[in-house]
Amino acid sequence: MNGRDSQIAEEIPGAEAAPASPRSPERAASRELDVVVVGGGIQGAGAAQAVAAAGHSVALLERREAAIGTSSRSSKLIHGGLRYLESHQFRLVRESLAERQTLLRIAPHLVRLVPFHIPVYRGMGRGPWTIRAGLSLYAALGNLRRSARFEALPRSQWDDLDGLATDGLQAVFRYQDGQTDDAALCRAVLASAIELGAYAEMGAEVVRIERPPGSPRWRVHYRRGADEESVLARVVINAAGPWVNKVAALAAPAPPVREVDLVGGTHIELSGELRRGIYYTEAPSDRRAVFSIPWRGRVMVGTTETPYAGDPAAVAPTQGEIDYLLGVHRRYFPDSLGEVSDAWAGLRVLPRASGSAFSRPRDVTLVTESAGQPSWVSVYGGKLTGYRHTAQQILEQVAPTLGTAKRRADTRTLRLPELERPTVWD
Ligand SMILES: Cc1cc2nc3c(=O)[nH]c(=O)nc-3n(C[C@H](O)[C@H](O)[C@H](O)COP(=O)(O)OP(=O)(O)OC[C@H]3O[C@@H](n4cnc5c(N)ncnc54)[C@H](O)[C@@H]3O)c2cc1C
Repeated sequence: MNGRDSQIAEEIPGAEAAPASPRSPERAASRELDVVVVGGGIQGAGAAQAVAAAGHSVALLERREAAIGTSSRSSKLIHGGLRYLESHQFRLVRESLAERQTLLRIAPHLVRLVPFHIPVYRGMGRGPWTIRAGLSLYAALGNLRRSARFEALPRSQWDDLDGLATDGLQAVFRYQDGQTDDAALCRAVLASAIELGAYAEMGAEVVRIERPPGSPRWRVHYRRGADEESVLARVVINAAGPWVNKVAALAAPAPPVREVDLVGGTHIELSGELRRGIYYTEAPSDRRAVFSIPWRGRVMVGTTETPYAGDPAAVAPTQGEIDYLLGVHRRYFPDSLGEVSDAWAGLRVLPRASGSAFSRPRDVTLVTESAGQPSWVSVYGGKLTGYRHTAQQILEQVAPTLGTAKRRADTRTLRLPELERPTVWD
């Protein structure tokens, strides 16, 4: 069992060495702005950056630190999501692969292509031809770029794969996808937003949002320590991740909401190393995809899908999840003696539905109170990979309300600042 399980819920994984969240030198309080963004995860940071780049005034309010929520608890992959092909989410995969290309260009210090290996064993749910077909489609959706190529590794190379079990092994496919440090990426996007003129306040918990009848502005009240302050804005972007409906419930008049399920996902960190890249395996008990990933000189294994109904701030790995992930990793790396040194959990926001979380859509949904001139946008779900594209969609939704302004930058080409040296590849 890991040594830090009791303190996991409100701590950024690996945060010991993490720099403080970027924050603007000036305060947002008492200002009249175009937009207030609630939430300093990747979606909030991306929205603030897009709004500021389009030339509008914007403040981001975050109750704790940037990336304290789901945005530091992901699998840290910048990818199209090979497995989403099985649930026919082709548009999501194509868009995500395009965003991967953009991020490789604007953040080469934070996003890298790494080799991914898919071992295929006799008796597994997905045989070599299924994997080959999936990788071919994935390459096609990635516009058959060089980075989209894949290969089947010759048998002579199987012994050189970090101790991967070879009993019953039929094929090993290798392709490339992106890896990042999610919290560092989030901080860099937020810093970019600040460079473009956004205000960012950390430790600022939104407690009430109101718009008097006939008023064109929301007043957003937030608590900083013992003080309550407020800021006025024409548009509120609710990017509170798993807290999205809690933040919507703070507003009067009440904005429309979507019914969602919160689904926990745990990762464990083990001692040991994977020198050849990432391994994409299938859990023997339920056929779910599980990744074994090199991470800061150790091995990260994830993830799970566990329904969650409690306080989002308190989500934590269960012993059952830790055992499940350790079991999957040791099935494929039987010589691995790695002990669990850390474990953490994050929450997906998925549309409410019956059936397994595995096959539910991972697209983002934007919910506004008015199709024509929205003053409220709630962001449900989405991917780390697609944050920039999502932010553009949000901007398009609120453009009729905000009108035109003098554009400051184009986020497709604007390089993200180099604030810190990510230790992911150490
Ligand atoms: C287990 C797991 C693995 C994943 N792996 C990947 C992956 O490999 N690749 C990928 O592309 N995507 C992945 N995702 C998806 C991705 O991580 C999320 O889509 C993304 O991080 C969500 O960001 P967010 O900004 O919406 O939410 P969050 O990061 O949770 O941010 C919401 C923020 O709102 C703040 N907040 C809440 N209430 C208030 C309030 N009242 N006032 C002020 N602030 C408030 C919170 O403190 C929090 O910081 C994964 C998700 C999970 C759960």
